[in-house]
Amino acid sequence: MSLRYGKEFLMIPGPTNVPEEVLRAMHKPAVDIYEGPLLETTDYCLAGLKRLFRTDGKTYIYAANGHGAWDAALCNTLKRGDKILVLESGRFALGWGEAAQITGLNVEILPGAWDKSVDPSRLEERLKQDLDHEIAAVLVVQVDTASGVWNDVAALRKAIDAANHPALYMVDTIASLGCMPFEMDEWGVDVALTGSQKGLMCPPGLSFVAAGPKADRAHETADLRTNYTDWTFRQGAEHYQKYCGTPPEHLLFAFHKALDLIFTEGLEKVWHRHALLGEATRRAVAEWSKGGVVHFNISEPHARSNSVTVVGIESGDAAALRAFTKEVCGVTVGGTIGELSGKGIRIAHMGHVNAVMLLGTLSSIELGFEKLSIPYGKGGIHAAIDYLAQAI
Ligand SMILES: *Cc1c(COP(=O)(O)O)cnc(C)c1O
Repeated sequence: MSLRYGKEFLMIPGPTNVPEEVLRAMHKPAVDIYEGPLLETTDYCLAGLKRLFRTDGKTYIYAANGHGAWDAALCNTLKRGDKILVLESGRFALGWGEAAQITGLNVEILPGAWDKSVDPSRLEERLKQDLDHEIAAVLVVQVDTASGVWNDVAALRKAIDAANHPALYMVDTIASLGCMPFEMDEWGVDVALTGSQKGLMCPPGLSFVAAGPKADRAHETADLRTNYTDWTFRQGAEHYQKYCGTPPEHLLFAFHKALDLIFTEGLEKVWHRHALLGEATRRAVAEWSKGGVVHFNISEPHARSNSVTVVGIESGDAAALRAFTKEVCGVTVGGTIGELSGKGIRIAHMGHVNAVMLLGTLSSIELGFEKLSIPYGKGGIHAAIDYLAQAI
């Protein structure tokens, strides 16, 4: 028997639910790219990005996914053969490092684990050994969607400062911008990047980069520049230069509407909503864990992200559980990837998510445990409700 017929939910860590308003914003004819309202949309989006990243720096829009923003950040600021230090914590920082390797950079990994955040003291220690300041940039992700970790971007900045090291500080906020606090200028981040399809509630296909003054200075001598990503060209006077060609108009209409939704709700309130939904999820997982089979992937409670929770399931039933929630309940939860492939599920609570969607998802998972006889501690849903009842 299936109960899936009704509104289906997509609760994977990207792409995420696109609000109806955002979908409708795209449903219109193409417009002139040389004059008229599109120019205002561009200005609004570039300024909105500054508000999201919390920066007075320059912002750039690419018709690309997050991988494109990775390239843009590197090519605009670094020189062939430069050494960069990648702070491992899950899959995505390593992926960025692989992109850097192909680009012609010399990549060093600061080893980390899939169940922990990056330790600032280890970064400080490594940078203090770099007496000749060979390391040109430090790369980290704020939230890694593969492991569910949240890295303390401000604390890592302090570690760089404590080592008195001049490296550029670059942060991937693809799975955290618009979900968790990020303060580019206050935290001394030189380059930050994100994508449209996670916390920002848009279809995939746009990515965004913000650059502070130190990154601008590095750009002057960077020798990996490419035509499409180039910041100098994109700062030119003509509108089409902002996109190095035809603007991705419909995605921009979508992004404009998504920014409206975020600023109407209020960015701090958006963060707070994510904090509540994230903690409700954790309360449920904590109860489920008492059955001995289900556990948090991230061992340190403070390092668990408010945008995605990665849950290990030791009985080997993760695939069956996901099939059950999808086929029988109508909610798609994420599978685990990389090192954790097949070993658990990823519950996304990022972007356009409310209490109905989250509680429905958690309840469907608990129903799955029951139906598939996966040992679990009962009362997860009740714990989530108890928490929300006192928190809202
Ligand atoms: C999803 C994700 C990426 C990759 O983004 P794409 O749009 O798939 O290229 C990179 N970094 C993080 C942290 C992500 O969550």
